[in-house]
Amino acid sequence: MVERMYLGIPRREIPWYPQIDYERCIGCLTCVKHCPHNVYGTEGNPAKPVVVNPYNCIVGCSSCAKLCPSEAIKFPSKDELREILKNLRGKYGLG
Ligand code: SF4
Ligand code: SF4
Repeated sequence: MVERMYLGIPRREIPWYPQIDYERCIGCLTCVKHCPHNVYGTEGNPAKPVVVNPYNCIVGCSSCAKLCPSEAIKFPSKDELREILKNLRGKYGLG
């Protein structure tokens, strides 16, 4: 399998994907229906969202979190992402 890359960095090194707070989630599945990248699946009855393909998530996208009526989806902050990418660019000698 070909390693997926993001700006020269292996995508799997970048911890950018939704984290669901199940204490808050009401199971509306808006996030599941919204994301076109197969990041989410569902589990249980009643169904709850589960993150099945975290590294399919588009780095910097957080549109599902914005649509969640319960503020149950968390991402790193944009500042944290900047710092993570900076460190990884250093690690991979990308300047
Ligand atoms: S949109 Fe929010 S409340 Fe609805 S299923 Fe997703 S995480 Fe749960
Ligand atoms: S942030 Fe964007 S790409 Fe990532 S799971 Fe949500 S909708 Fe999908």
